[in-house]
Formats: sequence, structure tokens, C-alpha cells
Amino acid sequence: MTQAIALVAHDQKKDQMIAWVKQHEHVLSGFQLYATGTTGGRINDETALTVTTLKSGPLGGDAQIGAMISEQRLDALVFFIDPLSALPHDVDVKSLLRLAILYDTLLAVNEATASRLVRQPSE
Ligand code: PGA
Repeated sequence: MTQAIALVAHDQKKDQMIAWVKQHEHVLSGFQLYATGTTGGRINDETALTVTTLKSGPLGGDAQIGAMISEQRLDALVFFIDPLSALPHDVDVKSLLRLAILYDTLLAVNEATASRLVRQPSE
């Protein structure tokens, strides 16, 4: 079965996410991709990949991804968190991280780990 990955980036991290997705476009094309609304919209517009977009993170998108994790419908989460800004939906961010830990979901919260996560065995 195709593995599913969710991609989420906070506003100050979206450019980094787009650059990272472009860099790993080939390997990511082999996965079923989900993303929060704004992150997913940008990936759909700016890369050749097709991502299923959920609600925007602050409007429930983080919670939707958390629900997918609890239903064990996600294999990995790439979550580029902004460590320098206060976020109105911090409670959702914490909840999403908690569920990823609880369900032992592969979780990358920075670019170095995300790149390791999608690395091909030959690289
Ligand atoms: P967004 O959500 O992709 O809709 O901006 C990300 C977030 O802030 O959780």
C-alpha cells in the first residue's frame, strides 16, 4: 500500500518547505501526500506534486492530521514548526505532536530530519 505523508509548515517556514519539497520531489511523488490548507495550496501551485489539502492549520487542519494519525492512516509527518513566533493555535500544535509521539508515527520537525526520512537507500 502507498505510504501516506502529511506536510505542515508554519508561515515563516513555508518557503523552506517549498524548497525542501522541490528538492525531494521525485521521492515524494511515490507517496500519498496530505497537507494543511495553505501549505498544501502552495505545494500544489509551486511544484509538480498533487497534495490533498485539509483545512488550514489554525482552522482545524492540525486536528484533522491528528485524527488521521489516531486512525493510523498516516505513516509520517513532516512538520516545519516556527520556533521563533507565538502561534494562536499552539494548543493544536502540541496536540498534533502528542499524537505523533503516542502512535509512534515517523515525525520530522526540522529539515535535516525530514531529509533523512525520505532518503533513498542509495543516497
Ligand atoms: P497552513 O497551516 O498550512 O494552513 O498554514 C499550518 C499551520 O499553521 O498549522
